[in-house]
Amino acid sequence: MERYRIEPGSDFRLSNLDPGERLSFDGKKALGNEYLEELTGRLRTLQELLYAQGRHRVLVVLQAMDTGGKDGVIRHVFRSVNPQGVKVASFKAPSSLELAHDYLWRIHRETPARGEIRIFNRSHYEDVLVVRVRNLVAPEVWERRYDHIRDFERMLADEGTIILKFFLHISKDEQARRLQARLDDPEKHWKFSPADLEERKLWDDYQEAFQVALTRTSTPWAPWYAIPANSKWYRNLVVARVLVETLERLEMRFPESSLDLEGIRVE
Ligand code: AMP
Ligand code: MG
Repeated sequence: MERYRIEPGSDFRLSNLDPGERLSFDGKKALGNEYLEELTGRLRTLQELLYAQGRHRVLVVLQAMDTGGKDGVIRHVFRSVNPQGVKVASFKAPSSLELAHDYLWRIHRETPARGEIRIFNRSHYEDVLVVRVRNLVAPEVWERRYDHIRDFERMLADEGTIILKFFLHISKDEQARRLQARLDDPEKHWKFSPADLEERKLWDDYQEAFQVALTRTSTPWAPWYAIPANSKWYRNLVVARVLVETLERLEMRFPESSLDLEGIRVE
């Protein structure tokens, strides 16, 4: 899975990553789903350990183009975990109250507490993505933000937060299919926004903004993973595996009781 990790200082090019890549799982959807099942089971145990220990904090950042699969990852990768220990924070266009503060204000208050997994459905990265592409602030303002973000995440990591960032990479053709599916299915109409078509016209600008954000803010303390996401099941599998491997490296144990519980029988 290290294949999809963007190494700091590497010459990673988003345009070289095939969104349809499935490696050895190509043509093996059933096997992929079986493996995902196993991984979500392991994730359930790991999250229980995390919650029981109450030591580590985990932040999962999800970014993608519209229809890229952020909601799908949340639904499928986290389907087995106890809702008590996992919370989702979704970041929409900022409210007037949020705009009255610095751009990290609304973000910081949603970061995970000890024992918690917090999933960011969009994030502070919008402030160097849509904000950059749409010229919502002057270039000298967003240009500074890459450094702010690196420093902010460094602080979170220093204070005990494990940070994993996923960019779900779909192709422009795949987005067309998914947007069309939203238009064709009345049960998906609620997900469609005419703004999605406007954003789609700026596809290349967004790809460039992602290219810059991913390479400038992938750090040892908060790495980016760029995930091929045309295949929903492969995308879920890769995200789940990165999460499971990262959490397993913590070698967590259930806390031992300080009480002597040996021999106690409940009448
Ligand atoms: P959705 O996730 O489909 O509900 O859409 C949320 C919208 O909010 C997207 O169009 C984002 O680009 C937009 N958004 C999120 N964060 C920001 C931000 N910091 N500034 C401007 N727009 C944002
Ligand atoms: Mg949307």
